[in-house]
Amino acid sequence: MLQNYCILAGKLNDLSQHSFSFLEGSKVLVTGGAGFIGSHLCERLLELGAQVRCLDNLATGFARNLSNFKEHPHFEFLEGDIRSLDTCLEAVKDIDFVLHQAALGSVPRSLKDPMLTHEVNTTGFLNMLWAAKSVDVQRFVYAASSSTYGDSKELPKQEDRIGRPLSPYAITKYTNELYAQVFHDHYGIDTIGLRYFNVFGERQDPDGAYAAVIPKFVKAFLHGESPIIHGDGSYSRDFTYVKNVVQANLLALCTTKKEALNTVYNVACGNQCTIQDLASHIRTILTTSDPKIQDISMKFGPKRAGDVPHSLASITRAEELLDYQCAVPLQSGLKKAMPWYIQHLKNKTNV
Ligand code: NAD
Repeated sequence: MLQNYCILAGKLNDLSQHSFSFLEGSKVLVTGGAGFIGSHLCERLLELGAQVRCLDNLATGFARNLSNFKEHPHFEFLEGDIRSLDTCLEAVKDIDFVLHQAALGSVPRSLKDPMLTHEVNTTGFLNMLWAAKSVDVQRFVYAASSSTYGDSKELPKQEDRIGRPLSPYAITKYTNELYAQVFHDHYGIDTIGLRYFNVFGERQDPDGAYAAVIPKFVKAFLHGESPIIHGDGSYSRDFTYVKNVVQANLLALCTTKKEALNTVYNVACGNQCTIQDLASHIRTILTTSDPKIQDISMKFGPKRAGDVPHSLASITRAEELLDYQCAVPLQSGLKKAMPWYIQHLKNKTNV
């Protein structure tokens, strides 16, 4: 059983104020660790003294995401696919904690190829859960998604009130929650699901057909082009800087409150930003390095199928049970992440 590991040195807006000393020497498996969010988790866990194994098939992740720490003596990379139960069983050997991030993201991708999304996100998830149970891991924390709120119009989104899913991706993420609950009820494994809301930050892939909105907009502005807004720009999201997500994962690993386990949490900032305002914020930040960007206007295109109009999280449950706080709000996160996006895009295209 977990001891009282989560020592709080303070509760103010500072990500460093929690002590995660329990992680020192513990063995953590991060699936999808070569991805955007997973690589931040690996890096932070290594800083905290954990031994980290990363399982990833590099489907959407990159070896470059591991470059800061791949030579770390406590880091191990296992290239493999969560669709193989044998691979999952190999990955969990001697593991204390699992942070399951591996999945195929993107609503449009799931509409184009629902079978593949299902195999990776549902069957792969079940494989990982089964493997984790077979070695009795102390805790299985997994990436859930705000897409589970589906067509519910209620704002802010509260964990217990969801609508009908709007995409195959959303179905897979909701199915994960159902499996996690059943595995707790029947096999006693402790799980926590973290419903991430539109995460952004360093190492988020700006390329490819399924890139997220922030890197897409940055890329367009840097190329002197108008970013395309789907719809009239009034749709809104609760954008969440990746370091907040890392913090939520660490808190989910360390909580010892019984009532905090075997449930799901919104991981967001509790703030709504329209897509049009987001584009304006990005333009303002980029204008400081290139004044010509100020003159670029936005373009509006058709709405995208499966898109939820508005997304805003209530983060009360995470605040109360995990001591989570949104330490880095949207505008500060954008400023922190922008140099990485700019550098990455310049390296690729010499803009
Ligand atoms: P990402 O694509 O950067 O990371 C996913 C990682 O999983 C990649 O490294 C990929 O190679 C790996 N992967 C995919 N299929 C695999 C397979 N079959 N076997 C092994 N590894 C595989 O995406 P991300 O944004 O870092 O997302 C991480 C998790 O968070 C995902 O579960 C995603 O659904 C969830 N999520 C992300 C967001 C967001 O805004 N980024 C929002 C909600 C939920």
